[in-house]
Amino acid sequence: MIEDETAIRKGVVEALRAAGYEPIEAADGAEGLAAARRPEVNLVLLDLMLPKMDGMDVLKSLRKTHASLPVIILTARGSEEERIAGLKAGADDYVVKPFSARELVARVEAVLRRSPERPSDVSRLFVGKVTVDLERREISVADGEPHSLSETECAILSHLAANAGRAISRDELLTRLWGLSGTGIETRTVDMHVARLRSKLATASRENSAQYIVTVRGKGYMLGPDVRLPDSSS
Ligand code: CA
Repeated sequence: MIEDETAIRKGVVEALRAAGYEPIEAADGAEGLAAARRPEVNLVLLDLMLPKMDGMDVLKSLRKTHASLPVIILTARGSEEERIAGLKAGADDYVVKPFSARELVARVEAVLRRSPERPSDVSRLFVGKVTVDLERREISVADGEPHSLSETECAILSHLAANAGRAISRDELLTRLWGLSGTGIETRTVDMHVARLRSKLATASRENSAQYIVTVRGKGYMLGPDVRLPDSSS
């Protein structure tokens, strides 16, 4: 959340936190650009009138390194030119000030839903001769009975698959999987689900030593090298 007006920034941050997100805040453009480039960032809320670096410059710089990171710009009422310029510079959506925190959270959800980084994009994974069908929640083997997966196990696997190559923290998995209702659920619960998932994959593929879900020390979990994703063309 990049915004120099403290009251607006704090209000939005509070609303996002209440909705289960983990907002990072910045009060000027330069600090905001640096924060937006942090690997754990999934979406940027960007005010345009900012000290140190103008919001439009932040957006243009950000697009050079992060072409598909979702950005919602916050613009002043009536400034149609600003909105058009923002969308042209690669913003995904805009919200006109003054806005309600509820409206903004709804926009955030909508933009994240259609973002290519969303888990729903991956529906099948391949582990050796085994196919994991995330929609049918099943692990199938050519010469055996299919094994079923729980909704949580599928959600973990699809979030890791959608973010292949990036370590996902337990906290992020908690927030992504349980959202608001995740409050009170411990990160240990995530470990438990991952352990069960690993054991199911090992049993189905009959390869105990294969790396399906890797633990990255101090960071979290990552999809392992022995899992193949479908070609993007299919
Ligand atoms: Ca401002």
